[in-house]
Amino acid sequence: MLGFFKKFSNSTAKSTKKLFKNFSELFSSSKLDESVINDIERALFSADFGVKTTQDIINSLKAIYKKDKSLSTDLAIETTRNIIKNTLQGAEANIPQKDDTTQIICLIGVNGSGKTTTAAKLAHYYNKHGASVMFAACDTFRAAANEQIKIWAERIGIDIVNGQPGSDAAAVAYDAYQSACAKKRDFLIIDTAGRLHVKDNLMNELKKISKTLSKINPDIQLNNWLVLDGNIGNNSLEVAKTFNDAIGIHGIIVTKLDGSSRGGIIISIYRELHIPILFVGTGEQLDDLTKFSVEKYIDSLF
Ligand code: GDP
Repeated sequence: MLGFFKKFSNSTAKSTKKLFKNFSELFSSSKLDESVINDIERALFSADFGVKTTQDIINSLKAIYKKDKSLSTDLAIETTRNIIKNTLQGAEANIPQKDDTTQIICLIGVNGSGKTTTAAKLAHYYNKHGASVMFAACDTFRAAANEQIKIWAERIGIDIVNGQPGSDAAAVAYDAYQSACAKKRDFLIIDTAGRLHVKDNLMNELKKISKTLSKINPDIQLNNWLVLDGNIGNNSLEVAKTFNDAIGIHGIIVTKLDGSSRGGIIISIYRELHIPILFVGTGEQLDDLTKFSVEKYIDSLF
């Protein structure tokens, strides 16, 4: 668990530094003044906390300051923590555990967001928790993506079903689900295409995967998990809305927070969409996936 904390803190290290720089200035004076509140506003904004959350925090700090010019740094931090905590209420969710069925996790997101890497990390996560996993390589459009997930499957030591380049993604998913059920795998992780520039085609393809699988099992519930690059700021929100409107998203995984100065994006996304944040990606290795925790997230910011 120690590694978990370390990774999580490291993942938001850059945004922490920016915020902390302001807070450490406060610490040295031990009191707030208006120019420091303005610095905090800029830091929150550039770390992608979003207009609304930034305003909530700054308005609260200013209101307290107006009443009492001797506002301490401790109170400022406590106020900020509480606002973030309230905003993220409900952002954590239980991760599906193995049962006596084959459950499906469908990873969705734009190219380059980290879907394939996240598929590998999730397989590793479930293997570590005693659950068996199979891959369905449904990004049949990009040969390189297909190769990449094959390499991960070999490295982790799990089965994979993939189709020929250009083949029907839904047909690959169908074969994979049948095989996963026959082999009694606990989870089938579907890696999908991410060609958002041909949005309608992509959304139809994703809908078709779901419809085709329901032919095998009419009760099947897909876990549609959106993989979002934590570095793309407000674009993440647009991407999330697009996928959610078209097919419905049940959980979000935010990747690449290790290289990001924008750890606040988690707050913006949750505030806007109220879809749980399941995991955070903090690197390119199999262990670089951390279950999201509001407490730990806030701790890593201060
Ligand atoms: P896909 O196109 O959505 O399948 O994205 P990939 O899984 O191929 O990832 C795109 C690039 O991002 C690759 O170079 C990955 O190694 C890298 N990547 C994925 N997740 C993370 C992460 O959490 N942190 C970092 N630093 N890189 C990541």
